[in-house]
Amino acid sequence: MAFKDECGVFGVFGCKDAASLCYLGLYALQHRGEESAGIVSYDTKNFYVVKNDGHVSDVFNKENLRHLKGKLAIGHVRYSTTGSGDLNNIQPFYSKTSFGKIAIAHNGNITNALHLYKQLEAKGALFQSTVDSETIMHLVSRSTGKTILERFQKTLSQCEGAYSLAIMGDDFLMAARDPHGFRPLVIGKLGTGYVISSETCALDLIGAEYIQEVNPGEIVLIDKHGLQSAKIPNKVKKPKFCIFEHIYFARPDSVVFGENVHQVRKELGAQLAREYHVDADLVMAIPDSGYSAALGYAHESGLPFEMGMTRNHYIGRTFIQPEQKIRDLNVKIKLNPIRAILKGKRVVVIDDSIVRGTTAKRRVAAIRKAGAKEVHMRISAPPVTDPCHFGIDTPTKNKLIASKKSVQDICDYIGADSLGYLSHEGLLNVVKAHDKSHFCTACFTGKYPIKIKNKGKHTVESHKKIKLHRRRST
Ligand code: AMP
Repeated sequence: MAFKDECGVFGVFGCKDAASLCYLGLYALQHRGEESAGIVSYDTKNFYVVKNDGHVSDVFNKENLRHLKGKLAIGHVRYSTTGSGDLNNIQPFYSKTSFGKIAIAHNGNITNALHLYKQLEAKGALFQSTVDSETIMHLVSRSTGKTILERFQKTLSQCEGAYSLAIMGDDFLMAARDPHGFRPLVIGKLGTGYVISSETCALDLIGAEYIQEVNPGEIVLIDKHGLQSAKIPNKVKKPKFCIFEHIYFARPDSVVFGENVHQVRKELGAQLAREYHVDADLVMAIPDSGYSAALGYAHESGLPFEMGMTRNHYIGRTFIQPEQKIRDLNVKIKLNPIRAILKGKRVVVIDDSIVRGTTAKRRVAAIRKAGAKEVHMRISAPPVTDPCHFGIDTPTKNKLIASKKSVQDICDYIGADSLGYLSHEGLLNVVKAHDKSHFCTACFTGKYPIKIKNKGKHTVESHKKIKLHRRRST
């Protein structure tokens, strides 16, 4: 399975021009995956599919949206560090099963996918892709359940890890969320129809009314009779909502796990100010990820909030790397410091996280070059010490700077005058809608709620490559 998928899913049932609504929904979810996008629709006769590499605006146009007919559609945006460029890996995944055609869009990472893949392969299953959704498709096709709900209950009870799914057949839309509820998934109402979405910001865009979250371990079937809920059989005792959705991943205007993301981030910034105050002249954010927390820090500390950097929003994925001698200018193309604000100032700089440390090092250098007298870096999350296995793209442990360096060593590496990370306790005190123990914070602690067997080193993708290599060399 593609190991580090970050994704967004969307689905529409019973609405005219479902694919166009899906397209808008995916636009709002673009931040969850910028590598590829796809929509599958159904018009009571045929299934239609459009998917490709690229942003939502690259993949869809008036012509191919007209081709996506019908009142039923699901869509997907994906970021993956593996498998990109392979059209077979772009979701939604669509196939004919023993009981009709099904399309699936998946956000998350099924941690026992390789095990399931090998089992299915041994029984003769022929895989076309290396995405988790295809494993689900094979399992559901072989399932002995009598109804569609029973088939998915049996299938999903075999899957471990993170999955927020949008599924459609020829007369239903379905939403399903793993028993830990790692990734968000919500349901909304639009006229007489329904929509499902990774985040509420997409409901807002199309004017849908929020109805409910899909609960951890719940499957919601939407068909002409309305909504029907079923439980995925499981032994999970507590939900484990991904805290990083609040820190970095979700959009600030979304309500995630019961709380508005911007307000949570602001409060993380305020808590950070309480934990790491510093005498300074102004507070600024690394755009755009640090804005909400920087506002909170400024309010709490009483220091003025300033725009110390601007961001160019027009750097598309097709941006051409210039010649070597002017490559250094690259850094300034995306973000450029405002000299008039920074010159001679003691600056508190807020970002949401440090992963490899490259971004912070570059930004600190740029802020200094613009004339800042002191640069105090503040991070609205604890040090990221361990990779995520549940759908956030983090590099392997040895590439995470905080896994091998102390805070002082990181401060020296990034070239800041001081560095302060939010404490783990401070972080959990901020999220109020759920008990503290209901959050997954494994990226800061290494304590994974599910035992991770191969830690991502051996994925279906690498498994397939090894087999291919062996075949070639014999
Ligand atoms: P790094 O240079 O690896 O330390 O990256 C840190 C920067 O990447 C911060 O500005 C974060 O906002 C951003 N970031 C954190 N997590 C992710 C992620 N999963 N995908 C992309 N960017 C991220």
